[in-house]
Amino acid sequence: ARIIVLASRPEGAPTADNFRLEERELPALGDGELLVRNVAMSVDPYMRGRMNDVKSYVPPFQIDEPLDGGAVGEVVESQADGFAAVDLVLHGLGWRDLAVVPAKGARKVEREIDGVEISPSTYLGVLGMPGITAYGGLLRTAEFKPGDAVFVSGAAGAVGSLVGQIAKLEGASRVIGSAGSPEKVERAKESGFDAAFNYKDGDVRRQLKDAAPDGIDVYFDNVGGDHLEAAISAMNLGGRIALCGAIAQYNSTEPPAAPRNLALMIGMRLTMRGFIQADFRDLVPEFQQKMARWIGSGEVTWDETVVEGLENAPQAFMDLLTGGNTGKMVVTV
Ligand code: NDP
Repeated sequence: ARIIVLASRPEGAPTADNFRLEERELPALGDGELLVRNVAMSVDPYMRGRMNDVKSYVPPFQIDEPLDGGAVGEVVESQADGFAAVDLVLHGLGWRDLAVVPAKGARKVEREIDGVEISPSTYLGVLGMPGITAYGGLLRTAEFKPGDAVFVSGAAGAVGSLVGQIAKLEGASRVIGSAGSPEKVERAKESGFDAAFNYKDGDVRRQLKDAAPDGIDVYFDNVGGDHLEAAISAMNLGGRIALCGAIAQYNSTEPPAAPRNLALMIGMRLTMRGFIQADFRDLVPEFQQKMARWIGSGEVTWDETVVEGLENAPQAFMDLLTGGNTGKMVVTV
């Protein structure tokens, strides 16, 4: 089989030298396996991360070993129940023309749905991983609800283009996209985005403000960096951000300004949510009852740093800001 291996790890943007096409002997077909001739294979941004030797939610590619990733192919020979020659399957052994695929890692896909012909590559895009990423990321992670104004970066890409369209179909009040060329911006508008801008035309924060004068409720982040920063500034009260990707950083050799590990949130499925204590007014009665009990029983203890005299209040305040207190700083008058 013809197969592409990782020749070396890129520093910064990948180059042709990082890849090598090889002719490799395929192992004999075993029980529960399929010989598959690939028809289409996916290349995805996450693969850039797998080219680095770092721990992540997917293991890194190994030097001199084949790359892998989503692919659709035709079964040539099957030694697995439920699969037969000519079946079309979606599986994880892309970057090669022929593959021996374990049947448990393969899913049969249709060539036609409701009389409409479906091209194999569709299962790598709109009906596949990018599709579910857009759908789930918007509706579940970002908790989209009808009436929300949505901003999505990478708006002409596989995921972003779908996020915008799904948002419109699900009742968004306004959908704004950003992309990296005038053609992409036009394409996004054509597909139903209410507004779109080219982030290379200038300050993202200003362009977003112009495109979303009433702010945004949801930001679907494919890019990170200045896009995320601009989106945070444009968020309305109670807005939600789904961190999907941070492609602006994938090739960079320098970490961004702190927090430099923001992208960890993606793999670790973390949630970061803002609040103001006044939101908890309804909790006050319950809180006061419990805390009174806890301090009464000694289960909760507390410290105070007491400064005497109104005239010492300014100093107390200044000391507070430099750590002159333990526990609550108060001034007796
Ligand atoms: P795309 O089809 O969107 O292709 C990548 C695009 O990124 C390029 O076309 C380019 O478009 C844009 N881009 C590249 N560099 C920059 C930059 N510095 N600033 C802004 N845009 C840039 O890829 P996908 O739709 O497959 O993936 C989109 C994002 O979603 C990625 O971050 C990816 O990692 C993430 N993802 C996350 C998943 C998850 O489970 N969390 C699953 C799938 C994808 P342009 O010309 O507009 O710059």
